[in-house]
Amino acid sequence: MSTIDYFSLFPDVFIACALVLGLLVGSFINVLAWRLPTMLEQDWQAQARELLDMPAQAKGPVYNLMRPRSHCPHCQQPLRFWENIPVLSYLALRGKCARCKTAISLRYPITELTCGVLSAVVAWHLGFSPQAGWMLLLTWGLLSICLIDLKHMIVPDVLVLPLLWLGLLLNTFDTFSTLTQAVWGAALGYLCLWGIFWVFKLLTGKDGMGYGDFKLLALFGAWGGLAVLPLTLVLSSLLGAIAGLSLLALRRARTSTPIPFAPYLAIAGWIAMLWGGQMTDFYWQLSV
Ligand SMILES: [Zn+2]
Repeated sequence: MSTIDYFSLFPDVFIACALVLGLLVGSFINVLAWRLPTMLEQDWQAQARELLDMPAQAKGPVYNLMRPRSHCPHCQQPLRFWENIPVLSYLALRGKCARCKTAISLRYPITELTCGVLSAVVAWHLGFSPQAGWMLLLTWGLLSICLIDLKHMIVPDVLVLPLLWLGLLLNTFDTFSTLTQAVWGAALGYLCLWGIFWVFKLLTGKDGMGYGDFKLLALFGAWGGLAVLPLTLVLSSLLGAIAGLSLLALRRARTSTPIPFAPYLAIAGWIAMLWGGQMTDFYWQLSV
């Protein structure tokens, strides 16, 4: 029996495999979300110095996604193989570094678990199919974008733009939508947030969003076509409003505190990609 038949016959096995794969990828996303902003900043500084005719900074130790190896940020002890197993290592070590006993941030197991669960949901909802494979990739990309935006308030082009192009290319084969829908979705997705941004800026003189947010909505247009845009906009505004009001109520934020919008867009777009059709059908049934 081929793998394809096997997974189609036993969807639970496929979901379990997606869960395990998601946990492993989540472990890598921890590294990516932690290191990519620093790598970008080093790049920007080097470019700025070149532009300003300043001497280049002395080269520090190599810093990329592979090196240095994963280590305890407190005592610098590199992690051994068994200390690097998603979630399980955290539990086995009781949340502390094996050597210096410094607490390990809960962020790591939470990211891994979130990635595993989201991957399992994609596998469960789409079944064993090319769509599920591509959607897993999108899910992992979005999770990385959310984590980086939450901490650094940047939506990195190096993640968003390749994913946007991938969506357009996939839809040349009608993977999630027709190519016409996808091209219009990408263009109008960008334009409508760009328009809102400028209206807001002309009225209040403030920047309400960043350009990364426009590109993120363009990405969803490229993947899901025009159809996913309205639901993504409505859901993300709702999520943003609920989160903003809760933060205000908890006095954790002031009205002037900038709130990263990309995570709400990412969550809303992800839901619209997976359940958009069903949700709009349900809405029309209610309104008739
Ligand atoms: Zn340590």
